Amino acid sequence: MLPFLRPELAALKAYKPHPPSPHPVDILDTNESPLDLPDELKAKLAAEYQQAIAVNRYPDGSHQALKQALVTYVGEALADDDAVLTPDHLSVGNGSDELIRLLLIATCLGTGQGILTATPTFSMYGLLAQTLGIPVVTVARRESDFSVDLGAAQQAIDQGTIRVVFMVHPNSPTGNALTAAERQWLRTLPESVLVVVDEAYFEFCQHTTLADALTRPNWVILRTFSKAFRLAAHRVGYAIAHPGMVEALEKVRLPYNLPSFSQAAAQVALANRQGLLDAIVTLLTERERIQSDWQDFPALRLWPSKANFIYARLTDQDRFGPDLAAADWAAGHRALHQRLLPLGTLIRHTGGGLRFTVGTPEENQRTYRNLAKIFAS
Ligand SMILES: *Cc1c(COP(=O)(O)O)cnc(C)c1O
Repeated sequence: MLPFLRPELAALKAYKPHPPSPHPVDILDTNESPLDLPDELKAKLAAEYQQAIAVNRYPDGSHQALKQALVTYVGEALADDDAVLTPDHLSVGNGSDELIRLLLIATCLGTGQGILTATPTFSMYGLLAQTLGIPVVTVARRESDFSVDLGAAQQAIDQGTIRVVFMVHPNSPTGNALTAAERQWLRTLPESVLVVVDEAYFEFCQHTTLADALTRPNWVILRTFSKAFRLAAHRVGYAIAHPGMVEALEKVRLPYNLPSFSQAAAQVALANRQGLLDAIVTLLTERERIQSDWQDFPALRLWPSKANFIYARLTDQDRFGPDLAAADWAAGHRALHQRLLPLGTLIRHTGGGLRFTVGTPEENQRTYRNLAKIFAS
């Protein structure tokens, strides 16, 4: 390794996006929407680019217009007597991944204190923490429903070394929403511990912790345009938090973190959200259809999901043929992942199981046929 690099980087691997594949595949590994933006919205965005964006100028580093549109959209979940949401509660990032890194920089960096996650969960919290030398403490989830071992979590907090708790609602890769007991536990955490609730899949689940974020100074919600809003290519995420927290995020972010074109894309998506989000109904119907159709595969155990993906584990390795009968469980998951690929289905092997993004009806039918082929062999 080059002598001027931080020695701990030697142990880290760069994040691998979609693996390059020689096969045409259904991309069901990153929980994006299977649907592109409709042509007429792309045309609107193109017109915006031609007529309104001066590309010789830096983007609006204050994200003013986008924040105003977000106040309207996010605020739809509030009741009349709830606290008021303002642009001062919002910070916009280059994907919510950027906001996760900013949160880590603003809270833990250089303190020796760390973060708590409950695994399996979104890997980015741990990965980004590692790149910053921030300690990561993990606690387990119950296999029955992937609820968090709150006793272990409280013990970790009692050690006094945790500054941030990251929870995904609903969790990825397992699809379960926060339970009432989990939400209640998060509310009991001392104000010296920041609670981050990642609501990347809010639009599919429709349950939010917004009221907590608006009344508790130690509560941040993360959202993204990469999933239900179909804008993964544009990298737009946002945080909802106490204005003091937002101020800190604004201090540590790069001044022009979000290109003008991406800001315009998010605004076009919000202005046309009804049409875009209507497609969710089809995805949720497909999700339930997968749950029932895949009962044909006793080798797979499926968990219920509140998001646009389904988590599965193998129940019985013997069904995998002689080359796998002796292999361990992880090898079985890896093998299923690998066998689906040449058949044209790309899924995610993560967290000791397999995660299938819900695709279009055609994609999901192909996945069914490919699984049937593998299980029959
Ligand atoms: C997909 C996803 C994100 C989105 O990240 P972006 O950087 O906004 O694309 C964040 N958190 C979780 C849990 C996710 O699954």
